[in-house]
Amino acid sequence: MFSQFALHERLLKAVAALNFEEPTPVQAAAIPLALQGRDLRVTAKTGSGKTAAFVLPVLNRLVDLKQKRVEIRALVLLPTRELAQQTLKEIERFAQFTFIKAGMITGGEDFKEQAAMLRKVPDILVGTPGRMLEQLNAGNLKLEHVQVVVLDEADRMLDMGFSEDVERLCGECPNREQTLLFSATTGGAGLRDMIGKVLKDPEHLMLNTVSQLNDGTRQQIITADHNQHKEQIVQWLLANETYQKAIIFTNTRVMADRIYGHLVAKDVKAFVLHGDKDQKDRKLAIERLKQGGAKVLVATDVAARGLDVDGLDLVINFDMPRSGDEYVHRIGRTGRAGNEGLAVSLICHGDWNLMSSIERYLKQSFERRVIKEVKGTYSGPKKVKASGKAAGVKKKKTDKKGDKKVVAKRKPTAKPKPNAPLASADGLAPLKRRKPAPAAE
Ligand code: AMP
Repeated sequence: MFSQFALHERLLKAVAALNFEEPTPVQAAAIPLALQGRDLRVTAKTGSGKTAAFVLPVLNRLVDLKQKRVEIRALVLLPTRELAQQTLKEIERFAQFTFIKAGMITGGEDFKEQAAMLRKVPDILVGTPGRMLEQLNAGNLKLEHVQVVVLDEADRMLDMGFSEDVERLCGECPNREQTLLFSATTGGAGLRDMIGKVLKDPEHLMLNTVSQLNDGTRQQIITADHNQHKEQIVQWLLANETYQKAIIFTNTRVMADRIYGHLVAKDVKAFVLHGDKDQKDRKLAIERLKQGGAKVLVATDVAARGLDVDGLDLVINFDMPRSGDEYVHRIGRTGRAGNEGLAVSLICHGDWNLMSSIERYLKQSFERRVIKEVKGTYSGPKKVKASGKAAGVKKKKTDKKGDKKVVAKRKPTAKPKPNAPLASADGLAPLKRRKPAPAAE
């Protein structure tokens, strides 16, 4: 029950109007501490309800302000435009019975219009660090009255090279009383460094360890012989799986365009989203997907960042993501807020080591699935024979569709190959030994 929190009645009214009945675990853990004014570092997966976990305490702080809209009081920094748009919407939904106004500043939008919006002084400013700094440098943005700063998807902001910008912007808020930092992963040294610099004696709420992520999502792998074979598998999955909406991830825009072209040729209602697309295309793709005009989105990681589309219940990794954390972000698109989802990764010979290092990082074993209609010849590394006996354990099961799934297949005595990737705390180690991949964005 949200009424357990010491939230203003206008906010509780909005919570009820939005049909939020039970707080999610991250909300139950973070809201009371945030309401006390504590600095928080929250590790929680995408889709766990973390937006409301910071939006409600921020609104509660501002709801009774006597002076309306003379200074920016809260700053929310996040990595992408889409996430900014979604967060702005969420703030507006929760603030619907209050006088609090929010504004948004991101790249790809008109600079002068943003400056005009800033002259009206929103109570809460949401945006991406790069453009926010440009507005600050142009003298359009004053942050000295900011009371609370939220860093959402902080790990992602670091990955995108925003750490200096974030620190600079925090430094422009000398009177801030509270900082709330959210990340989907525990991050590495960069995140620890940022935490040390911007948070004061924070409480660390670990809502999910990485291995518990996306427990509403079944995670499978299907082996493939080559990219063309992967495309056949994609077509089969799209034709035979039960799903509302699907997202297919590739590591390069060239591959995204190619798959998109083949889907369209097969009359699949699809859209493609990658770094070459302009802001208009991105908005259109997301709208079409939300309204149901397209069922399938083909995307690269950066393009899909921050997407929150209801009913996105099938994720296909055409290319394996390059790190464990990226995998977590990708499958965080599905199984949101308790819904079931399915994530299928297509694995060629060259993907196997990366896939198994991600399994080790997540401390999970993905379900091995074989679809007999599109079965190829590659089925994973050859088994290593141990003293004349087969080294692997193989159990086969048939699911309701009649596909065979290899549930467990282990090589207990196999020595690691010299080029086998290492499982690392940040899931990135395998990349160091891979050939440089073509730029995704
Ligand atoms: P988030 O992790 O904040 O992106 O939230 C994921 C989705 O879950 C959003 O569509 C939210 O509106 C929804 N959501 C968050 N918290 C709740 C809740 N307590 N009850 C129902 N839906 C929720």
